[in-house]
Amino acid sequence: MWDVLVIGGGNAALCAALMAREAGASVLLLEAAPKARRGGNSQHTRNLRCMHDAPQDVLVDSYPEEEYWQDLLKVTGGITNEALARLVIRASSTCRPWMRRHGVHFQPPLSGALHVARTNAFFMGGGKALVNAYYRSAENLGVEIRYETRVDAIELDGSRFMAARSGAHRFEARTCVLAAGGFESNREWLREAWGRNERGEWPADNFLIRGTRFNTGVLLKHMIEAGADAIGDPSQSHCVAIDARAPLYDGGICTRIDCVSLGVVVNREAERFYDEGEDFWPKRYAIWGRLVAQQPDQIAYSIIDAKAIGRFMPPVFPGTVADTLPELARKLGLPEQSFVKSVTDYNAACRIGTFDHTALDDCRTEGLIPPKTHWARPIDTAPFYGYALRPGITFTYLGLKVDEHAAVHFGGEPSDNLFVAGEMMAGNVLGKGYTAGVGMSIGTAFGRIAGTRAARAAAQAKGVQHEAA
Ligand SMILES: Cc1cc2nc3c(=O)[nH]c(=O)nc-3n(C[C@H](O)[C@H](O)[C@H](O)COP(=O)(O)OP(=O)(O)OC[C@H]3O[C@@H](n4cnc5c(N)ncnc54)[C@H](O)[C@@H]3O)c2cc1C
Repeated sequence: MWDVLVIGGGNAALCAALMAREAGASVLLLEAAPKARRGGNSQHTRNLRCMHDAPQDVLVDSYPEEEYWQDLLKVTGGITNEALARLVIRASSTCRPWMRRHGVHFQPPLSGALHVARTNAFFMGGGKALVNAYYRSAENLGVEIRYETRVDAIELDGSRFMAARSGAHRFEARTCVLAAGGFESNREWLREAWGRNERGEWPADNFLIRGTRFNTGVLLKHMIEAGADAIGDPSQSHCVAIDARAPLYDGGICTRIDCVSLGVVVNREAERFYDEGEDFWPKRYAIWGRLVAQQPDQIAYSIIDAKAIGRFMPPVFPGTVADTLPELARKLGLPEQSFVKSVTDYNAACRIGTFDHTALDDCRTEGLIPPKTHWARPIDTAPFYGYALRPGITFTYLGLKVDEHAAVHFGGEPSDNLFVAGEMMAGNVLGKGYTAGVGMSIGTAFGRIAGTRAARAAAQAKGVQHEAA
C-alpha cells in the first residue's frame, strides 16, 4: 500500500508529492493527461506573486504582507478567508529556495509585462519548465507517476480516504491529496453554472478555455456529492478577455489581449460598458472575461490607436488595422455611426494630464458614463487597431472547504487522511476577482502543506498498524 496518493499532475499535485516524498513517504501520483500534455494549467503559467520586505534576487523594492493582503481584499471584495489568505501570503515569501532546489529558476519580467517587477517572480522558461523540473525531481526522488489515469471516484469510510478508482483500477493508500484542478474544461457544467441570460442566450457556449482540457471537475463533483463541504459560487472564475480567434483549449498566455487599459472597449452595439482604466491591469484583467460574458453575444472589441503600440505584450494574432475609425468599424462588423460616436464622445471627454502607464496617472475622462479613470488619451492617431474579445476561462473557483492544514471537511469536521490543494480549494481564498500570480501562490502553499500533512498522517497510520500487529 502507498503512503500518499496524489491525484492530479499540476503545480499543486507536484508540490504535494515532493513534500510528502521528502518527508519519507512512498508516493504515487496519478495524472489524467498523457505525458506530453502533463502539467494542467500550471504548464501555462509565468509567475507567482511573492511577499517580500526588501529586494530579493529578481524582485525589486518590497511587497509587504499588508499590501498583498489589501490587494487580495480589494479584488475579492472581501469574499476571502483572511487566515488562509495570510497563510498563503507568508508562505509565498519563503517558498522560492525550496522551488530552486527542485530545479525551478527565476528571471525578472520582460518589458511589456503587467506592472509586476515588484510583486511577481517569473519562472525561467515559464510554467512548462517549472512543471518539467518538478517531474524530473519527483522521478529522481522515487515518486511513482502514472499518466492517462483519470480518477473517477474516491472510496470513503465516513470522512476517511480508503481508495481511489480509475475505471477498473483501484489504488489504495494511507492518505490522499486531491489536486485535480477546477471544472473549467467541463462545458456542460459551465453551461449549468452560467444558465440562460435575459436575452435567451447560454453565455457559456461562447467561452473559450485558456488551459488544459483535462480539468473536467469529475473528482470535484464526486466529492461534493459524497458530502465534502464545498465553498464558492460555481459561476465565479478567473475569466479573462482573450482573442476571439483563440482555440477552444490551451490557447495559453499568448491569446490574452492586454491593451484594454490603453484604449476603449465596446460591445456588439459599439457601446462602452466599463471603466477600462479603473486600476492597474494585473488587478483588473481577470474581471474582463466576465464583463464580456455579460454583453450581447458574449463578444466585445478592444480599440486602440498607434500611440498604444509597444506598450503592451503583443498577442499572437495581429489585430484588425484601419486608417480611419469608420473603416475600422466596417472591418470589425460594428455599426459604423454608433462606433464613431462612442469613440468621439470618449475623445472629447478625455482630460489629459501626464500620461504614465506605470502609475495610476491623472489622464481621465470627465462627464462620460462609464468613465475611464486613468490612462485616458484620445484615440486619434492612425492606424487604429481592433481585437475581437471572448471570455476565456482560466480556472473556476468552486472548490472544497479547507482549514490551515489543507484537510477536506465533511459536515464541518476535518478528515484526518484526505487533503486538497490548488484550484480544487482556491475558492477558500478567492471568492471572486484575481490578482496576477496568486493562483500559483495558493497551489504552492497548500500543495506543500497537503503533502507534509499527508506524509505525517501516513506515518501515524503506519505507527498505529505496527502497534496493532
Ligand atoms: C493560460 C494560463 C495562464 C496562467 N498564468 C498564471 C500565472 O502566471 N500565475 C499564476 O499564479 N497562475 C496562473 N494561472 C493559473 C494557474 O494555472 C493555476 O492557479 C494553477 O496552475 C493551479 O494549479 P493546480 O495544480 O491546482 O491545477 P492544474 O495545474 O490545472 O493541474 C490539475 C491537474 O489535475 C489533472 N486532473 C484533472 N482531473 C483529474 C482526475 N480526475 N484524475 C487525475 N488527474 C486529473 C490534470 O490533468 C492536471 O494535471 C494561469 C492559468 C492559465 C490557464
